[in-house]
Amino acid sequence: MDAASIPTLPQLFAAGRARHVAPSVIDVAGGRTYSSWGLWREVARTVDALNELGVRAGDRVLVQCEKSVSVLVTYLACVHHGAVFLPLNPAYTDAEAQWIVDDATPVLVIRDPSRATLGGSHLALTLDASGAGSWADAVAVSRGSSGEESVFGAKDRRGEDLAALLYTSGTTGRPKGAMLTQSNLASNAGVLAELWGLGPADRLLHMLPIFHAHGLFVAVNTVLAAGAAMVWLPRFDIDTVLSSLSNATVVMGVPTHYTRLLADPRLTMESSARVRLFISGSAPLLQSTHEAFEARTGHRIVERYGMTETVMLTSNPLTGDRRAGTVGPALPGVEMRIVDDEGRTIGVGGVGAVEVRGPNVFSGYWNRPDLNDTEFAPDGFFRTGDVGMFDADAYLWLIGRSKDLIISGGLNVYPIEVEEVLDAFPGVAESAVIGVPDPDFGEAVTAVVVGKPGEAFDTESLRDAARERLAVFKVPKRFHIVDALPRNAMGKVEKAKLRAMFGGTERDST
Ligand code: AMP
Repeated sequence: MDAASIPTLPQLFAAGRARHVAPSVIDVAGGRTYSSWGLWREVARTVDALNELGVRAGDRVLVQCEKSVSVLVTYLACVHHGAVFLPLNPAYTDAEAQWIVDDATPVLVIRDPSRATLGGSHLALTLDASGAGSWADAVAVSRGSSGEESVFGAKDRRGEDLAALLYTSGTTGRPKGAMLTQSNLASNAGVLAELWGLGPADRLLHMLPIFHAHGLFVAVNTVLAAGAAMVWLPRFDIDTVLSSLSNATVVMGVPTHYTRLLADPRLTMESSARVRLFISGSAPLLQSTHEAFEARTGHRIVERYGMTETVMLTSNPLTGDRRAGTVGPALPGVEMRIVDDEGRTIGVGGVGAVEVRGPNVFSGYWNRPDLNDTEFAPDGFFRTGDVGMFDADAYLWLIGRSKDLIISGGLNVYPIEVEEVLDAFPGVAESAVIGVPDPDFGEAVTAVVVGKPGEAFDTESLRDAARERLAVFKVPKRFHIVDALPRNAMGKVEKAKLRAMFGGTERDST
């Protein structure tokens, strides 16, 4: 896609709106259905409220609230108004939120009324999970017409305008604000809507959080670009998700959602028959989950890969081979290469660092121009920090994060290789393999294992099984049995936490 043909988000959504006939958002918890007109009227009113409060284009609006349609409307209002939307995980403590407020200097901070007021020169307003609070009051009294002009005119924004600032989950170190422009987001949403064949007849089951790129951009932007609708759930709740499947044609989830669905006997061919497409991302979907899901429901999950800084990068195809264990080919318009430590491109079958370039790639980290030289290659490719390999059909296989790579006795060990062997052992539910400092080996391969409920396994036989299948330097030197692996809100295993728990030191510098 050449730069000139990339629309802004308001233009993209206007095109979606023009195709749309049905309800736009079905708010299950709030018991309310928004027509397309009703939703966009509310967005226009919210743009007015931003104007009336003195928010100007480029100003940051920080929102740390429980998921609700009001937060969705606030996001949509910001991208039309020109304010930069900055969503924060409600689980962040006041100290974490304060750090981000100091870094991003928002002019407006909207939080749950139960939270303390943060320091800074911003205006502080409130919004609770039901959509009530002083922010909702400000929207309710706004009356001007500037909002309608921004929303229905869809012509005020430019592609290079900053649309959102998302702080990376930062499992270690200080979080960094990824600056995403209108064209980063709009180009990606347009490509995905087409690739996944989304149209006005679709209804997405929206159960993801919206403080993260997955629920906010991959889900919301793509649906609105296509003129589709959303069945809006506040969170993943197994009963509500199962009862909503008959009302949805598309589901987007993280792997944990799929394993939880599989653990429930109510997930069947019949209960999932209305859905035409299940999509997974944000963390690796085990081949065994992919296969079990197909056996139970007849659906082959489409796995895709992306990150906050680049939005989506690859996807398995809608029609064609959806391969378990791979994240599919690069999306149209995304250039992707695998490079070695010297930055030389590696061919098919070679393992190396994944680098990307394209209209979707962010413009840098907020307040951190110093990182441009380290995070981007001289020719503009972004260093994702992921390690992967292309197969002969240009499908990408992800091996892991480069910082999780273990170097034991000078030899590289990719945790996923070891994890696959351990996970296949009877009685093992899942595992995570990390490197911990070791005087002899530099790093010792260490396994953290979760057993299946009610099934026992013996560590010695597990070690023997690993010895049979893996080169000796990859066999874990230590095993730790735990009840559950620590995961973040998107279902990613927090390896940094495991390294800290089991004697590791922190290697991440940013
Ligand atoms: P975030 O910025 O929080 O979205 O995290 C992005 C990271 O999640 C990527 O760099 C990958 O390491 C990981 N990730 C996303 N999608 C997948 C996937 N389908 N399989 C494996 N890892 C993934």
